[in-house]
Order: sequence, then C-alpha cells, then structure tokens
Amino acid sequence: MASGFVLKDVDVKNNAVVSFGELFVTIYPYLKKPVSAEYISREIKVKPSRIRAVLNKLYNHSLIDYKRCFDDDTGKYTYIWTLNHKKLETFLKDYNADAVSENAVASSEFPFICSGCKEPYSFESAVDCAFKCHKCGSTIDALE
Ligand SMILES: [Zn+2]
Repeated sequence: MASGFVLKDVDVKNNAVVSFGELFVTIYPYLKKPVSAEYISREIKVKPSRIRAVLNKLYNHSLIDYKRCFDDDTGKYTYIWTLNHKKLETFLKDYNADAVSENAVASSEFPFICSGCKEPYSFESAVDCAFKCHKCGSTIDALE
C-alpha cells in the first residue's frame, strides 16, 4: 500500500505521532483526498470524535482546511477536510519535538481565544460560532 512519505521515514513518522497522536498514522492514508471525519470513522471503526481530535491538531498547525458541506445521505452538515500535503511535509521535517509537545499540552483543550474578551474556545465551539465570540462579537484567534 502506498501511504506516502510519512510512513517511510522513521523520524518523520515519530514526529507525526508526537504532534498528532498515534491515530494519525492510521488516518493519514485517507487524507490523500478531501474527506469527512465520518467517512474515516466508518472505514477504520474509530469514533468520529477521536478522528476530529487528530484533524483539530492538524488544523491548529494550519496544515489542513475544511469546508462545511450538506450531506444528502445523512441530511446533516458535515465538514470536508483537505490536507495540505506540502505544508505537512515541511512541518514534519522542520519539527522540534520539545517545543511542539509543550505547546500542545498547554493549548490542546482550548486552542482558540477571543481577541476581545479572551474567552477560551475549543476548535469545535469556535467553528460553531463561525469564529465570532458569542460574548463580545470579536474575532476568535488560534492561540500561538
Ligand atoms: Zn469575546
């Protein structure tokens, strides 16, 4: 199975696991094309919330984009994720394990913050209010 550069290089693979979790290695082959967390969930029999947690980590590093789409099958909105392979490759090659893991611990739960009133947001709550603070209406930014 051709699963891309991540799994060929041991250092790069370790960096990916430290940055995005063990599950990333399983999810990565599905990110070759734009895909929903629900689709990956059905394929690998892992809860969508656990897959979204990995996707959120990628998003925190600006390595993935998403689009909100209406899913005719479920009658619900879903997010289609598109991995930026070039940026991921650069990120993993330039990666500094110590710096990233400290930062990840500090910001994993509330990786976003209101630029006005400093209300913390999780990725999902920030998406739900379209990156506008529900308290003061200011823009919600990613924590650096
Ligand atoms: Zn606010």
